[in-house]
Amino acid sequence: MIVKTPEQKKALKQGMLANVMRQFDNAADIIDLNPNIRKILEVTNNELVVHFPVRMDDGEVEIFTGYRVQHNNSLGPYKGGLRYHPTVDIDAARALAMWMTWKTSLAGLPYGGAKGGIQLDPTKYSNDELQRITRRFTYALGDNIGPELDIPAPDVNTNPQTMAWILDTYMSTKSPAERSTNMHVVTGKPIGAGGSQGRDRATGYGVFLNIKFWAEHKNIDLKDKRFIVQGFGNVGYWAAHFLEKEGASMIAVQDAYGSIVNEEGIPVEDLLAYTKANKGSIMGFAKAETLDNAAFFGLDCDICIPAALGNQITEANASSVKAYLIAEGANGPTDVAAEEILLKKGVAILPDILCNSGGVIGSYFEWLQNRNGEIWQLDEVLQKLEKKLRESFVKVVETSENRKIDMRTAAFIIAIERLEEAYVQRGIFP
Ligand code: GLU
Repeated sequence: MIVKTPEQKKALKQGMLANVMRQFDNAADIIDLNPNIRKILEVTNNELVVHFPVRMDDGEVEIFTGYRVQHNNSLGPYKGGLRYHPTVDIDAARALAMWMTWKTSLAGLPYGGAKGGIQLDPTKYSNDELQRITRRFTYALGDNIGPELDIPAPDVNTNPQTMAWILDTYMSTKSPAERSTNMHVVTGKPIGAGGSQGRDRATGYGVFLNIKFWAEHKNIDLKDKRFIVQGFGNVGYWAAHFLEKEGASMIAVQDAYGSIVNEEGIPVEDLLAYTKANKGSIMGFAKAETLDNAAFFGLDCDICIPAALGNQITEANASSVKAYLIAEGANGPTDVAAEEILLKKGVAILPDILCNSGGVIGSYFEWLQNRNGEIWQLDEVLQKLEKKLRESFVKVVETSENRKIDMRTAAFIIAIERLEEAYVQRGIFP
């Protein structure tokens, strides 16, 4: 990469942005990407940082910082989630926006990539406060988002309710004539507020399908296989739900509060019911024992599903991994140093931009329905999702085997070549 500013140099030394840039560089080097197109894709198009005040329940005013980074829109409107987490900053938003561009390109969607969010710990705020924070953030974003411009969706610690508040706030700022035609300004909405059947499970179901496709390709039967899940949110839960239905067994789970293990299997639905009654935490679940967090990734299992945050599998723990398959439900969970170690050990990695792409594909289906005034049934959504994911999986495996490269680099190559073609055909204005 061409390092231009001291700020960029600093950013490169840090976490997720360094990883996504190195992943991009690996693929770009192999295909000898046109240097001018490389320059374009290395930078983000637009970066918005907003500071806004919100009145708290106790009457005091707190100032929040929100971000929206729009990386690239050469294939269509910017698309990507909003996360609420203390780790959200401009570099995290840049890295995650770039991953969205590769993800939507690989999936063959008419979208670009964006990401954003607010730097906060949502457990510290009441539901009413989160509503006011979300609405004021939406107001601050103003017309930088829009149904044909930049379409947010749920991500870490945001959910259909958050999307409903964004939709309502955005619509309230529009003229009456525009209101009903703006439903697709966000995806991942509750069904009653214009959401799609199946969007709730789309990411986790997609993670499961990728594991299933891979197992079929390797002639492995998923029955009785042992898996561990980091993050028991929307992605981790649904992936576990479908794997358990296939006869596999969840032996350990880790969340923000700690880790639990049961070699005989942890019943997925029981754990979900427990977390709902336990403020979202898995800790204290009667049918499992507490496990030291540091021992989690080294557990003896077949499949490991990191479905929480970035940079979880690192140089520090990669050599202890026993699983032969890592299915990345999260964005950027395996860093570049860890990946080198894992690939040398023969561990297969289903890369995030493929493995968790069911979410944004589900979002695309919701967006299409809103835009066309259609309502699809659940089985129709899931069938369409499976078809799209299978196409991506086959392309990635073929590219990986033909070029004798890992699946992540293969996925990046497919994504970058589609963008390259768009730029070559369109040229650069003026
Ligand atoms: N936040 C999800 C992701 O990282 C979904 C994005 C979307 O649906 O736009 O892929």
